Amino acid sequence: MMAKHLRSDSVVRQLAHLVPRLYNKLLPVPCFLCGVETADGPLCPDCMADLPEISHQCPLCAIPMQSDTICGDCLKNPPPQQKSISLFTYQEPVDRCISAFKYHRHLGFASLFADLLAKKVQHDYPLATLVPVPLHPIKIRLRGFNQSQEIAKRLSHHLSLPLNPHCLVRSRNTPAQSQLTAKRADKISEMHSAATVRRQTA
Ligand SMILES: [Zn+2]
Ligand SMILES: [Zn+2]
Repeated sequence: MMAKHLRSDSVVRQLAHLVPRLYNKLLPVPCFLCGVETADGPLCPDCMADLPEISHQCPLCAIPMQSDTICGDCLKNPPPQQKSISLFTYQEPVDRCISAFKYHRHLGFASLFADLLAKKVQHDYPLATLVPVPLHPIKIRLRGFNQSQEIAKRLSHHLSLPLNPHCLVRSRNTPAQSQLTAKRADKISEMHSAATVRRQTA
């Protein structure tokens, strides 16, 4: 019974993942940035090619670098995480895409970011489970969803990894990342201190 349950749950997840893609293929939608009709997701191929991808980054805090070496800040104060990955530098038009995703629920970007992350993660990182960064309950109420969990759900499908959205809990409500002027390493540290491991209740 349990195995049957798990199987049907997995089928539902697969369908939930495939249906929006199929819809997009059948009915092209305007590219979020330039308005040209596209069948490949929220951005057309030209706008995708123009995104400021980070080719080299510090492996610990993911700040852009000339080569994939550990940055000076991480050498001086090593952060708690063993790896970080960034897809793009946070600048126009990436900031607009992220705002559309986070504040206007443009979930096409969850699929796009998960696709791109899956390609980066697949090669380099042996992973056991996916844990999305939790949102404070106030933000969940305001926003209606956790953007990190939306990406993790899709990544879980791509990488065939279990998703564990409940093992971390947000203990403090922090300002929006976009409003922080701190360095990336400080933002990561802020995020670490605001999330704690949920106690097991047996
Ligand atoms: Zn475009
Ligand atoms: Zn670094």
